[in-house]
Amino acid sequence: MGDPETKRKRYCLMCNVFKPDRCHHCSACNRCILNMDHHCPWVNNCVGFWNRKFFLLLLFYALCCLYFVDVTMLDTFISTVQWHLQAYYHELDLKELAIVCLHDVTYLFALFLTFILTKFAYFHLTLVRKNMTTLESLEHKGTDYESAVTVAFATLSRSSTLALTIICARCSAGTRVCG
Ligand SMILES: [Zn+2]
Ligand SMILES: [Zn+2]
Repeated sequence: MGDPETKRKRYCLMCNVFKPDRCHHCSACNRCILNMDHHCPWVNNCVGFWNRKFFLLLLFYALCCLYFVDVTMLDTFISTVQWHLQAYYHELDLKELAIVCLHDVTYLFALFLTFILTKFAYFHLTLVRKNMTTLESLEHKGTDYESAVTVAFATLSRSSTLALTIICARCSAGTRVCG
């Protein structure tokens, strides 16, 4: 009935301490993380109770940069695409073509990152609204942290957000989450 006395106490065998609710042990950090969201390989740290705000701010600033690049480079991208179309009818300077192709590929990559990160940020804002963590979200879907990579490919087509989350989890090379 929600009485703390009746709740099962959880014990971390690695840290030798009782774990509070919503606390998980991260093998990469080798310590228990309060309100653990996930171990982020990009910042090489766990995202949890004390730094989740800064993780969300990182997403916000990254998205601001990406949208700035997308908007300001759009004109140039259109020009280079037009140049490509015209190039079909003219002799090409291969060196110049390579530079233009590099620009186009970089811009398309920025668009791709914008799409993925927008969905990723929306996913995390939804979790914040529901007062959940990524781990709790995976548990809620019946997916544990370790078998999540299997789900990644299955969900890639309908949810790049979850896939990115899981890929992040797997990128942290053998990170184990206990309890
Ligand atoms: Zn621990
Ligand atoms: Zn960690």
